[in-house]
Amino acid sequence: MIIGGGGHGLAIAYYLAKYHNITKVAVLEKAYLGGGNTARNTAVIRSNYLTSEGVRFYSESVKLFQNLSNEFDFNIMYSERGQLTLAHTDATVRAFRQRAEVNKHFGGHTEMIDRQQIQELVPTLNLDPGHLPVLAGLWHRDGATARHDAVAWGYAKEAAKRGVEIHQLTDVQDLIIEGGQITGVKTNRGTVQCGCAVQAVAGYSSVLAQKAGFRLPIVSYPLQAMVTQPVKPFLDPLVSSSALHCYVQQTSRGEVVFGGGSDPYPLYNTRSTLEMKESLIASGIEISLPGQGQTDAPMGRDYRHDP
Ligand SMILES: Cc1cc2nc3c(=O)[nH]c(=O)nc-3n(C[C@H](O)[C@H](O)[C@H](O)COP(=O)(O)OP(=O)(O)OC[C@H]3O[C@@H](n4cnc5c(N)ncnc54)[C@H](O)[C@@H]3O)c2cc1C
Repeated sequence: MIIGGGGHGLAIAYYLAKYHNITKVAVLEKAYLGGGNTARNTAVIRSNYLTSEGVRFYSESVKLFQNLSNEFDFNIMYSERGQLTLAHTDATVRAFRQRAEVNKHFGGHTEMIDRQQIQELVPTLNLDPGHLPVLAGLWHRDGATARHDAVAWGYAKEAAKRGVEIHQLTDVQDLIIEGGQITGVKTNRGTVQCGCAVQAVAGYSSVLAQKAGFRLPIVSYPLQAMVTQPVKPFLDPLVSSSALHCYVQQTSRGEVVFGGGSDPYPLYNTRSTLEMKESLIASGIEISLPGQGQTDAPMGRDYRHDP
């Protein structure tokens, strides 16, 4: 039994079937596939981390993503755009140099670039935003994006093809434990027996663990993101600035996706807040200038006249 139909739950089901021929498996998802973090995230795929473990782990992850469309025979719209992280202070420039060297050492494609190279990569970028001028950038050529919901569907399709059962709208409300072993789960649609269960419920891990009688040292904080209506393509790489608490990318469909930092209080609610939208838009405006060929007119229908 796999509880949670996000990227992890569905990938576990798929790889168990593919590599271990274990197919007597059910995935129970309380809402819809990918409806948790997996299809709400900002879809940045990268391996430019600081530690050797981080770089090696995420390099494998990037390689895995590069081949997923072939593996699923289903287009996840993997798009290698490169990721540009902006440095606004000397301390960040030093930290980025270290990151670039660690990355290179483990075979990653990450390098420091100067202001001129940044401007060539992203002509619409404002390199002198108010109080925080851009000093240099960390350019990660392997940085990419993909359709996150397609990743969930691809894993689900291939797992189901191998015999895995997938049940959406099935909320696991309690665990049945006998003699220290799980023997079943109680859901809103009835009780299901099982000999073994995996919880792949991300932010709900502590909630479910409590039902099994133990406490996990995991606390959930909201992480918000935001997406605009589609506009004409103007931004190719993924651009981020931790000093401005903002990162931006444009999807293949033209929407501009904004991400930022997490909220400072534990919460399970998934509603967005006006404060976060205001702060992301303010940062987005600060680092972006309308350049040549850029337009504020949405693609297709003119939504500005919508009631
Ligand atoms: C705003 C935001 C931006 C992000 N950006 C990025 C990014 O750019 N790049 C990146 O790599 N990562 C990003 N992440 C992180 C990434 O999305 C997560 O690490 C990943 O999706 C976790 O996958 P998961 O399968 O573990 O969890 P989820 O996708 O959350 O899946 C867990 C599932 O469990 C279900 N569930 C919970 N409780 C129960 C229950 N009792 N019974 C049945 N089902 C249950 C939920 O409905 C959910 O569908 C971001 C996350 C957020 C929130």
